[in-house]
Amino acid sequence: TTIDPADGTLAYDLDRAHVFHSWSAQAALKPFVIAGALGSTLWDYDGKEYLDFSSQLVNMNIGHQHPKVIQAIKDQADIITMVAPPHANLARGEAAQRILARAGSSFGSVFFTNGGADANENAIRMARLTTGRDKVLSTYRSYHGNTGAAVVATGDWRRVPNEYARGHVHFFGPFLYRSEFWAQTPEEECARALHHLERVIQAEGSSSIAAILLESVPGTAGVLVPPPGYLAGVRELCDKYGILLIFDEVMCGFGRTGEWFAFQGFDVVPDLITFAKGVNSGYVPIGGVVISETIAHEFDTQVFPGGLTYSGHPLAAASIVASMDAMADEGIIDNARMIGTDHLGPGLAELAAAHPLIGEVRGMGVFWALDLVSDPATRAPVSAAVIGELKGELMKRGLLPFAADNRIHVVPPCVITPDEVARALAIYDEAFTAVEAV
Ligand code: PLP
Repeated sequence: TTIDPADGTLAYDLDRAHVFHSWSAQAALKPFVIAGALGSTLWDYDGKEYLDFSSQLVNMNIGHQHPKVIQAIKDQADIITMVAPPHANLARGEAAQRILARAGSSFGSVFFTNGGADANENAIRMARLTTGRDKVLSTYRSYHGNTGAAVVATGDWRRVPNEYARGHVHFFGPFLYRSEFWAQTPEEECARALHHLERVIQAEGSSSIAAILLESVPGTAGVLVPPPGYLAGVRELCDKYGILLIFDEVMCGFGRTGEWFAFQGFDVVPDLITFAKGVNSGYVPIGGVVISETIAHEFDTQVFPGGLTYSGHPLAAASIVASMDAMADEGIIDNARMIGTDHLGPGLAELAAAHPLIGEVRGMGVFWALDLVSDPATRAPVSAAVIGELKGELMKRGLLPFAADNRIHVVPPCVITPDEVARALAIYDEAFTAVEAV
């Protein structure tokens, strides 16, 4: 299709006149107008191309406009576009079957939601109803969504203006680079973080705690890959105190870490899994909860008091089936793992060695963060102005970045190629050099 720069101007003007944006003061916004995209590349209305190293909101796992997913949505649209939740639908059943086949044998069914926040909302509800307990523990360095319970389960600043849901308690998870526990090694960080969590459980009263809700690999908070043994240790504490374990795989699931589910790289099985984003790369909005057999049976005779008009929407369900099949057939999960091990891991380490602004590189698969510091000794985070300059330099050179706090997250689609990674690494290198020269 041809691109008309006038449409770009119109899109920008309409946005600024009429669209209210998330998490922002509105007046100073200057949104980037995207005209189209394919794979890991997108372009603006002047025809300038950008490598999408944001995957939008870290959700475009299969890449933009995958032909098999687009075709499945079109085919489903020709059959039926909406089926109310009480009825059965083939695409919905197949989507649940595909997800359960990857989740593992202890899981029994899938409850579909509209996205990630309401997946957490419903997982929390299931945990409370199953245990008869109220409290939910989650980490300060987390994001779980923007609905009543999900935003209060969230640990970061977005919780504070929204604290009206009940029974949420926060604790510190492991993060060696900025350790809360005076730790020097991953082993110390792991042992002390688990000790801290056990003390929080005891101090809150273990019999009042329904669930621990954790991102298997916390994403927005900075790609905080847990140290070996931490998730297994949390599982042990849950079992010791009769607490359910919910893994939020909304951002880290479906290939991001090089696994179908991130927890599968850590040899731990939760009771509930929440998902969204990468399950169908957001071609049509959907999320959900994968429910263990045991918890699913709780609701064999007890009514589950929750539902959504668009639960298991056929267009979204069809896109899940096509996306998961394409990921399997085309080795997309394996590609994400290989890119992390052979290209992004070593390439970003080299970048950090060349640029003192980069205090730490951490991640796996296509899920990485550069923790930027003004002083490597004190690890003081860089200012928002430095991040702003870097974003500008990256965009100028044709790379759409993902920035959060003092970090640049390196989060391309799982289909990214070694050649595209090499181009991106060269752009990051030039952009850091330009900012350091100021
Ligand atoms: N959980 C995690 C780990 C997330 O990263 C997000 C979104 O970024 C959510 C939940 C919320 O998902 P949604 O925006 O689809 O409601």
